[in-house]
Amino acid sequence: GPVFAIVGRPNVGKSTLFNRLTGSRRSIVGDEPGITRDRIYGEVRWNGHTARLVDTGGIVPDDEALIPSEIFRQARVALEEANAIVMVVDGRTELAAPDIDLARLLLKTGKPLFLAVNKIDTVALDATAENFRRIGIHNLVPISAEHGHNIGDLLDEVFAVLPFGNEEAE
Ligand code: GDP
Repeated sequence: GPVFAIVGRPNVGKSTLFNRLTGSRRSIVGDEPGITRDRIYGEVRWNGHTARLVDTGGIVPDDEALIPSEIFRQARVALEEANAIVMVVDGRTELAAPDIDLARLLLKTGKPLFLAVNKIDTVALDATAENFRRIGIHNLVPISAEHGHNIGDLLDEVFAVLPFGNEEAE
């Protein structure tokens, strides 16, 4: 069935969002011993459809030279199998180069990319939104993973692009 992935730097709220979307329907998958955080899969049910969600763990492209290796070592499988990607950023922090680098890399996959601007319970969206629009990301959804704001909007947008085929709604 369809799969979508959560990607983002540490502390932006990926785990909080993952837990909110999946509840306790999850499993930890590790195929490379020694990597601190393996991929975690969960199940998301929305509007009668079920998709799998994969949390790619901490991708930390702090050093430009490390971006490909980090992405492709830790998250390659997740990104390859994903039908859509949700990049999470912390709306409170100023947009940093690593965020832009990561976003550009994700855009290159050609997969539907949604930018979840998290923690909007604490911040105004405008500056962050403008920065990402400038590099070509227009699918912005302001959310609060912790408080649940706009989670339905995010799921509406993501599920609209997932390939459910002719599967009947449950
Ligand atoms: P991860 O490292 O990306 O998985 O981030 P976590 O899910 O562990 O969250 C990092 C911190 O941000 C935690 O202290 C969360 O409680 C906090 N956090 C997550 N979502 C929100 C939110 O919507 N609003 C606020 N104010 N804090 C949040």
